[in-house]
Amino acid sequence: NASREIVTRFAPSPTGYLHIGGARTALFNYLFAKANGGRFTLRIEDTDKARSTDDAIAAILSGMRWLGLDWDGEEIYQSARADRHAEVADALLKKGAAYRCYATPEELTEMREVAKAEKRPIRYDGRWRDRDASEAPDGAPYTVRIKAPRDGETTIDDAVQGTVVVPNSELDDFILLRSDGTPTYMLAVVVDDHDMGVTHLIRGDDHLNNAFRQKVIIDAMGWALPTWAHVPLIHGSDGAKLSKRHGALGVEAYRDMGILPEALENYLLRLGWGHGDEDIVDRQRAIEIFELGDIGRNAARFDTKKLENL
Ligand code: GLU
Repeated sequence: NASREIVTRFAPSPTGYLHIGGARTALFNYLFAKANGGRFTLRIEDTDKARSTDDAIAAILSGMRWLGLDWDGEEIYQSARADRHAEVADALLKKGAAYRCYATPEELTEMREVAKAEKRPIRYDGRWRDRDASEAPDGAPYTVRIKAPRDGETTIDDAVQGTVVVPNSELDDFILLRSDGTPTYMLAVVVDDHDMGVTHLIRGDDHLNNAFRQKVIIDAMGWALPTWAHVPLIHGSDGAKLSKRHGALGVEAYRDMGILPEALENYLLRLGWGHGDEDIVDRQRAIEIFELGDIGRNAARFDTKKLENL
């Protein structure tokens, strides 16, 4: 529907500071929303209680404020939405699009061992897909799994990667709810994006594989597909995946070095995005011309030397 309001989101897991890659993802989502008169939203994906910290949440919020990436509305905390996630898992069970799996930890371990021995990828074999829950021992713990398509293939039209196809034999019946009733990332993301009205998902291409699984849930619910834009990750000047070793710090470290937020923004924008030969100098101009099609398909190289000379 062309008249749908454009909504983007930045959805960091608060397990550390706001790093360069995350800040760039947030910036792209911000610019795309503003370029289209839409809304830029923020969701803190704090469901992993063991790894999420309040310090990381504070660092992400203050890093975004420092960069002037103001989000519309209140930030959403994913952990507060567990009941809603379970409700959708229930709806999928009722539709017959998901099922209760009573496979024991021992069975799952065996499945893994056999796959390893046969040098096959490890995938759940769907053994409870067509069995009735009444065959399970009374009160036995279960997970809720989606019925993924088995034949044919799934296609995604990605705004950056183009058309990407996977054979459905690669999608197994992945878990939606764990045996303690908590939602998996795969379920939570889909439900939250839908409820927040997100139309465009701009994120690192390390999530491209997840998009195929997320599509299975979206289709089963009969929800509208978002437009995906999976952005190549930033690499260090040596070509390896960016890490602290390359001098990539949290954005606040750059603030403390005296680098201006506008300068950092300008540098981030040029990492993997370009509009002809034009040197973008300010936020207003960036909003005017930002297009997903100008995101490059190759990994951008991060160079601390250039950054320090800003
Ligand atoms: N919370 C995920 C992360 O920080 C992002 C999820 C997403 O963008 O779909 O990697």
